[in-house]
Amino acid sequence: MSQNFDAMTPLPACLSRRGLLRGAVAATGGAMALLAAAAPAEARMTERAASYRDAPKGNEDCANCTLFRAPASCTLVEGKIDRKGWCRFYSKK
Ligand code: SF4
Repeated sequence: MSQNFDAMTPLPACLSRRGLLRGAVAATGGAMALLAAAAPAEARMTERAASYRDAPKGNEDCANCTLFRAPASCTLVEGKIDRKGWCRFYSKK
């Protein structure tokens, strides 16, 4: 025997709309976590491509750039990044 549900019929507790929504959100979050884990490390550009140098440009240096990650890396440029370095993608904090 099958049950018929319409918009006015309350869903059983195990099939509540809220429960279904929570399940969908949990499934989506799990899928995103799997994708992030499977994705290769984010590619960064070479020092040469960014015109990186180990010296500041005026009062602009990596330590004052939004892309700098202490102690010595950058989210955009690969390799060891000096706090007193600079490149053409400098972005003031
Ligand atoms: S200036 Fe900014 S973007 Fe360029 S290497 Fe330094 S931290 Fe990275």
